[in-house]
Amino acid sequence: MGDIFPPESGAWRRLEYRAAAAAGSYGFEEIRTPLLEPVELFARGLGESSDIVQKEMFVFDAAGGKRLALRPEGTAGVVRACVEKKNCGKAGPLKYYYLGPMFRRERPQAGRRRQFHQFGTETLGTPHPAADAETVDLLTFFLSSAGVAEYDLALNSVGCRECRPAFQRALASFFRQRSDALCPHCRRRLTLNVLRILDCKNPSCRKEASGAPLITEHLCAGCQTHFSRVRNFLDLLAIPCRLEPRLVRGLDYYTRTVFEAFSPALGAQDAVAAGGRYDNLVESLGGEPSPAVGFSAGLERVLLAASLPPGYLSPPEGGVYLASLGDEAFRQNFILLSALRRAGIRAEIDFAGRSLKAQMRSADRFSARRVVIRGEDEIGRKAVRIKDLETGDEEEIPAAGALSVLTGKPAGK
Ligand SMILES: [Zn+2]
Ligand SMILES: [Zn+2]
Repeated sequence: MGDIFPPESGAWRRLEYRAAAAAGSYGFEEIRTPLLEPVELFARGLGESSDIVQKEMFVFDAAGGKRLALRPEGTAGVVRACVEKKNCGKAGPLKYYYLGPMFRRERPQAGRRRQFHQFGTETLGTPHPAADAETVDLLTFFLSSAGVAEYDLALNSVGCRECRPAFQRALASFFRQRSDALCPHCRRRLTLNVLRILDCKNPSCRKEASGAPLITEHLCAGCQTHFSRVRNFLDLLAIPCRLEPRLVRGLDYYTRTVFEAFSPALGAQDAVAAGGRYDNLVESLGGEPSPAVGFSAGLERVLLAASLPPGYLSPPEGGVYLASLGDEAFRQNFILLSALRRAGIRAEIDFAGRSLKAQMRSADRFSARRVVIRGEDEIGRKAVRIKDLETGDEEEIPAAGALSVLTGKPAGK
């Protein structure tokens, strides 16, 4: 886990603002759910055999024998919240976005920490393929507005409860004949969840998987139609994506559409964002059946993949520094300081009563554009001096007019 200091924290704030703005323009509203949830929620939602549930969750014993986990992802909590509220989009789609930390106890890798941050959306209550396309459209808009210019979008369908079992059987029999070539994990996956073998990064497993049967050859008519309609909607929006018949995603809850966005800046194996449809999750978490679709983006990775414009990480510029010589000057400056700040102007003062020269150095470090200089002479003339640090110009103005000069607004407004 890591700390985020300025100026990086400023880049984070801007990224989160862009995420919220993008989601807002697509009609998503924010939902905030607890960081802690019962362990069973993730076991039921993500699947007992998923890597996350098997080995990556931070789990705690709470009072009363409850087992809690720090949330490893956002979707299960959002669905749990909607199920508890007895509103999962039956009366019309619910559209929520979330932004916040997630926790996984995995091996640290580039751009990945054990507390990481995700932006994601969930649309509950519609089976319509346009909802899948809308989600992908928002994801691509967010990536480009965050400065990720280059990415590769992979798309697939993982079928549904009707057609996936036959595919899983075909896959299991294919890999059983090659189990000697599989890593120990994948040998366990043969019985636990054979789809995950397609996800394995082990070179030998990847080699075997390259000849495996394809889900797209086993889709039922409903899944085929849905998939082709999703692709049509993406074509309408001219969103380029690559069909990737081996893309399965690591979680049990996905049905039909799945997608991942990869950035060349991060290497081929790690997605910067991913998502898909999860038509059975609401039901399996105790709600009325409600088809749904969503995505999440890893914000650490978005920042790594983004080509940030020059100055993106530099401290804020402009603003006013108030230099005071003497206690009375400090008191009068202190009043002006608060008024400037309340007018939205970045402003700073020296508390320590140091020399003018030292205060001018502080003004520089603060990247101030202008300095207000007030000493006993100025107080005697009911004036202040204002020095423009960019041009070097200095002028004396009446103290009563300082606020309106510095804010650029006429007095009294
Ligand atoms: Zn199907
Ligand atoms: Zn493997």
